Amino acid sequence: MIPRLKFSLKILTCGFTAVSVHAAGTFFGDPPDAHHPWVVHDMNRPQPPIVTPSAVYGGAPSDATLLFDGTAASLAKWKYEKADDERRADWFVEDGSLVCAPGAGNLLSREVFGDCQLHIEWMAPEHSGKSSQARSNSGVFLMEMVEVQILDNFKNPTYADGTAGAVYGVMPPAANALRPAGEWQSYDIIYRRPIVREGVVLDPGSLTVLCNGVVVQDSTPLEGGGGFRERQALNRVFPEQGSLKLQDHGDLVHFRNIWFRPLRPRALDGGFDGRLSEEATRAKRAAIAEDLRRDAAAMNGLQKAFHLYESLVYAQSAAARGEADAIAKTFVDAWLLAEPGDLEQQKHRVLHLEKALKYMKAHEILPSEHFALPLVESIVKVQGWSDEPH
Ligand code: MG
Repeated sequence: MIPRLKFSLKILTCGFTAVSVHAAGTFFGDPPDAHHPWVVHDMNRPQPPIVTPSAVYGGAPSDATLLFDGTAASLAKWKYEKADDERRADWFVEDGSLVCAPGAGNLLSREVFGDCQLHIEWMAPEHSGKSSQARSNSGVFLMEMVEVQILDNFKNPTYADGTAGAVYGVMPPAANALRPAGEWQSYDIIYRRPIVREGVVLDPGSLTVLCNGVVVQDSTPLEGGGGFRERQALNRVFPEQGSLKLQDHGDLVHFRNIWFRPLRPRALDGGFDGRLSEEATRAKRAAIAEDLRRDAAAMNGLQKAFHLYESLVYAQSAAARGEADAIAKTFVDAWLLAEPGDLEQQKHRVLHLEKALKYMKAHEILPSEHFALPLVESIVKVQGWSDEPH
């Protein structure tokens, strides 16, 4: 008994240092299913990227692309929609703002992008008695296709679906949160383009807009995007990316602090968060399992077994299961032969294996008659250990 025990403990103490990192999130929450590749509370799921927010409200966070930062040099990031010989003026930079000169035509960002968070600030100068749509009209066109209206309709009634913060021609803003002319207004826009494939609308897209911090559009479906006096067909195909367009509607409107951040891809765009198609889920689960098996190849002992078992949670593999079972059997056999005092040192490992086996049995990842669980449970029972979560 004694020589065998010494041999056994040598095995038991090797390769068991980093299990807890994975163990914290595996064998715990609901396992992956046909539409979700991750376990609930999965520690293998990538950490969100670090973004440093601006010190001031409305300022660009660390991962934003600046389209206008108040400098004349920023003009190089834009181009004109009209040919030079068709324009009667130029947009210009004055006191840190980008100013639309009537007759210059629309301005397009050279940068093209799709789904985004966009921040833009604008100011209507003091008006000269004009009213309705003629008072400091401009607009922010996402991908040149969907207009969030800019208009000085502070105490200036006009048609509701053409007021500031409207998805022009589609949806009025939920509130008129404008400040008077001469004061800066801010738009924070979250834009999801429509996804239409082979004539089928897979996602109508949406716009969320905050005007001066007030929600005026709340996941508003785009319905194909609007336009002047017309509705657009729901099946209009949008490209994946386009320029940001600022409208010249014949009025002097000022802009500043323009930046955007791309949004994480939707499942329809190849993203891995949210509800995925069965095909995408299968592929992602296989990839996660493959990563775990690659990591396991550089490990030994129980750490290796846990990684291999963990991989089965995402995708079955007879080879991975066989290898994990063989390692587990070595340890369980040794535990069964160990003196109670020596076994006490293995308590954490025994309970952890019990937890993993129970989880995999409950979720039918291992067969209900798997050899190891009754043996491990008998050890836990004889030792009088709690099988509560640990
Ligand atoms: Mg407009």
